[in-house]
Amino acid sequence: MEFGSYARGLWNLLLSENQRRYAHDKKFLFYNDMAKLITELKQFDEFSWLRAFDSAAAQQVARDLDVALKNGIRKDRIQRFPKYKLSYKKKKQHGDSYRTINNSDCIRIKNGTISIPKVGQVSIRYHRKLPSAFKSVSISYHHGTWEASIVIEVKKEAPKETLGAIGGFDINSVHTLVSSSGWYVTNPKSLRNNEAKLKQLQRKLSQQQKGSNRWRNTKHRLQHVHLKIRRQRLDFGHQVSNTIAKCFDLVVFEDLNVKAMQQWNGRMTGDNLMGEIVDLTRYKMERYGGLIHNINRFAPSSKLCNNCGHSQTMDLKDRVFECMGCGHIDCRDWNSAKNIEAIGVKELMQAGTVCWALPTSQVKSSGKMKVRTLVRLDVESAKRDAA
Ligand SMILES: [Zn+2]
Repeated sequence: MEFGSYARGLWNLLLSENQRRYAHDKKFLFYNDMAKLITELKQFDEFSWLRAFDSAAAQQVARDLDVALKNGIRKDRIQRFPKYKLSYKKKKQHGDSYRTINNSDCIRIKNGTISIPKVGQVSIRYHRKLPSAFKSVSISYHHGTWEASIVIEVKKEAPKETLGAIGGFDINSVHTLVSSSGWYVTNPKSLRNNEAKLKQLQRKLSQQQKGSNRWRNTKHRLQHVHLKIRRQRLDFGHQVSNTIAKCFDLVVFEDLNVKAMQQWNGRMTGDNLMGEIVDLTRYKMERYGGLIHNINRFAPSSKLCNNCGHSQTMDLKDRVFECMGCGHIDCRDWNSAKNIEAIGVKELMQAGTVCWALPTSQVKSSGKMKVRTLVRLDVESAKRDAA
């Protein structure tokens, strides 16, 4: 599978050509010019590798660079050229990948294999039945194996008008996730066990002679553990985000960048599981018609008392919130989750996205206390976005 490096090579080639043209007469090559250039280059023997490369994937490289260039010259951003793609070995990390388009069903999945243009049939592990035809396939290298992600189009549900179930979520290093309703989610034990195994193997590898058979063996086992962790994390992320998206109509998260800096001091930032959960939840909420909101990054979610609003300084070590104002005692993370919910609702109200509405007459006649429901005001524009 040299296609990952072909895609990188083509990206770099087209980019350097763009830089040369720009230096010469301040002009860029956009998608159409680049596609033409690719066809022209194929004639030369030097670029015979381009002929071996899947042409739909080559066009996709040009399309991606087109987008990157246009982003790079937008007025509201720092103007700069896109970056060159370094090789897998130079970067010392995984990441070679390329994308190809399913033109007139040229990519087919059957009998446990996927047929990819110019590659042929590759046996795959098939995770689930696909709900619909797919648009494109992205193939990438991770820890010694190639993965094919299939991009499909999923129909979104209509945006929800009444937001009955509201959840604020505190993401932290002790419990992975705590919701304002008191749901605690912790990293699965298997994940932690694997991380211990990873450390052990890394130590072993560093002691062995580089290039020796034993070293290679350890290296192989290390890759396997990396892969296993990656899959388990993704699986865990999907489970948690799915539960959230199904149970809540409005989900409020806090800004993770600030939190990572405050709490984890670089120790946990490499572990992007929390960020993954937020990303996965985002697209699932959108699919189910829910609303997701990130609160302002400087909102004091952990310092406030969720009972009386008293503000006090909290040390990172304090696991219990003891209010100096009203004596209310709460778990630190639960207290922040409730604050995150309240702050989120307030911010959305200020932005005119939601408002509290009085119950309809039917609910009122049930004789219960006054219940307010949160109503989404931007349903029409959300519908337009979804369409
Ligand atoms: Zn209080």
